[in-house]
Amino acid sequence: MCQHQPPCPSADSADRESARLAAHHPEQGWSLLCNGVVLFEDTGELLPDGSAIAPQRPRTADQVMTTA
Ligand SMILES: [Zn+2]
Repeated sequence: MCQHQPPCPSADSADRESARLAAHHPEQGWSLLCNGVVLFEDTGELLPDGSAIAPQRPRTADQVMTTA
């Protein structure tokens, strides 16, 4: 699926989120990476094999309080 050189991290790589954007739909809250991973704005992911990854918690303390 990825046509880049050097190739982006594959969908089963731990570094999958650093693949390039193939489609970006901020109004719908998701992006498609060129390795086939769908990345949601809440940091959840949907992998090409159909498995889902739950959203991860915000990394900075000041973001934790804003969504309460
Ligand atoms: Zn790529």
